[in-house]
Amino acid sequence: MAKRILIKNISYLITMDSDRKILKDCHLIIKDNKINAIGKSLIPKAILSKDIEPSNVEEDSKLDNTNKFVESNNKEDYDEFDEIIDAKDMVILPGFINTHHHLYQNLTRCFSASQDVPLFDWLTTLYPIWSKLEPYDFYISALVGIVELILSGCTTTVDHLYIFPGGQDTVIENELRAVKKSGIRFCLARGSMSLSEEEGGLPPKELVQEEDEILKQCQKLAEEYGEKKSELKNQGKRIQEDNNSNEFQTIKRNREDNNNNNFPKMKSVQEYDNDEFPRIQLILAPTSPFSVTKSLMEKIMELALEFNLKCNTHLAENRQENEFCLERYNQRPFDYMKEVGWIRGNVFFTHTVYLNEDEILKLAKSGVGVSHCPSSNMRLTSGIAPIKEMLDANVNVSIGVDGSSSNDSSNMLAETRMAMLCQRSRGSDKIISTEQTLEMATLGGAKVLGRDDEIGTIEEGKKADIIGFDLNKIEYAGAYENPIGALLLCQPTNVALSIINGRLIVKNGKLLNLDLRKVLRKHRERTKLLLSR
Ligand SMILES: [Zn+2]
Repeated sequence: MAKRILIKNISYLITMDSDRKILKDCHLIIKDNKINAIGKSLIPKAILSKDIEPSNVEEDSKLDNTNKFVESNNKEDYDEFDEIIDAKDMVILPGFINTHHHLYQNLTRCFSASQDVPLFDWLTTLYPIWSKLEPYDFYISALVGIVELILSGCTTTVDHLYIFPGGQDTVIENELRAVKKSGIRFCLARGSMSLSEEEGGLPPKELVQEEDEILKQCQKLAEEYGEKKSELKNQGKRIQEDNNSNEFQTIKRNREDNNNNNFPKMKSVQEYDNDEFPRIQLILAPTSPFSVTKSLMEKIMELALEFNLKCNTHLAENRQENEFCLERYNQRPFDYMKEVGWIRGNVFFTHTVYLNEDEILKLAKSGVGVSHCPSSNMRLTSGIAPIKEMLDANVNVSIGVDGSSSNDSSNMLAETRMAMLCQRSRGSDKIISTEQTLEMATLGGAKVLGRDDEIGTIEEGKKADIIGFDLNKIEYAGAYENPIGALLLCQPTNVALSIINGRLIVKNGKLLNLDLRKVLRKHRERTKLLLSR
């Protein structure tokens, strides 16, 4: 029988649907990994009992869809739910979607030698340390970073992973192991660097890979996670997430492995792409104009188009990058992207601080998305991206926390608030609204990832990625008549509730199924080890 969760007595429900409806005093039912019903009278009749035969399940669904429910205070009627959550005095909204991160960087958070320098110096200070990362570091940093994201309201995250020290082939599987443990919806942006310092780029030789090697590894991932165009046409193939009922048991079984550095080697990344866990989205992500060769940019795009994949790169991040492109390619970063075939709908750029009016219009016209990382841009003195102008031009804009060595925080709610304040600090008459800002963190992220048909809003039939904030917190005291605005205007708090892919991850503000203290202790040890290598 299907797994069901009832969220009852929701004080405020922000749907982010096409009408931007905000519902008051309603209930929501989750069936398996999808939102099944939303309404004011959704407490089911006794007819939907545990005794339903599997053959009648279809008929029950019809009942759900036609809202044949009655209010009931009879406790027996609740029995069919695996979980009932009381959301009185809570704001419920779609989970945040973080479109940019480098999870491994939380091992070198606020590293003192790089804390007061701009981007290029920051990178060249940290590259040598990152070149000493070991396989287990990628697991523990990903786990800590993802948990931090989840507690701040994130239910889907991208990780742009571009460091493969010594060509380690276990980096990705170690990261995916943490993903599986956390339960987050994940997008693996397979980064790459092929232009070393010796060839005029920025990264040291030991951190770049040969083009052929990168392409071979990306091709392998594309075959596992992509959808070949011919297959799409013939079969309409889409990996489905049907049933996650075995998740808790699987996580429990794996719990013992947590403190063991020599955990068993995974057979294949394919293991994660099954019915029990959210589908992993692969994004091909050559890292930046100053770390990737021109021919790799072109070849990666060919591969992405063949396998129907999204592409991402850092672009127009700061003035130095602009100068680099003018010097090396005699083009502004945007024009360079155009030349390598990257101004197209399957692309999103991270940062885009240095784009002019004309380039913004071209982004909108071609459907290129943006991942905006305000804290990192300010921290590294890169500048402030013209996000309000992009929104006015109808560019799809999302929010990214960026890596934890340049933001030093993986808090999606705080980053969303920062995005709003940062735009307002520019002193323009055109004010970015709280609604526009919240949209960037939810539906905007879904659009940038090409997944607004399944995530980013709370609507019947969408994936059950739902978060809730408790209004009975000191941070929200006095925000009585505007609890929605309070989320962005008041000091950010952690979530009281997080459900990802229909699975309960945080309840009553507590992370389920993970001993965070133990994980943090391990993480601390690994940083110490890394800095001593
Ligand atoms: Zn980045």
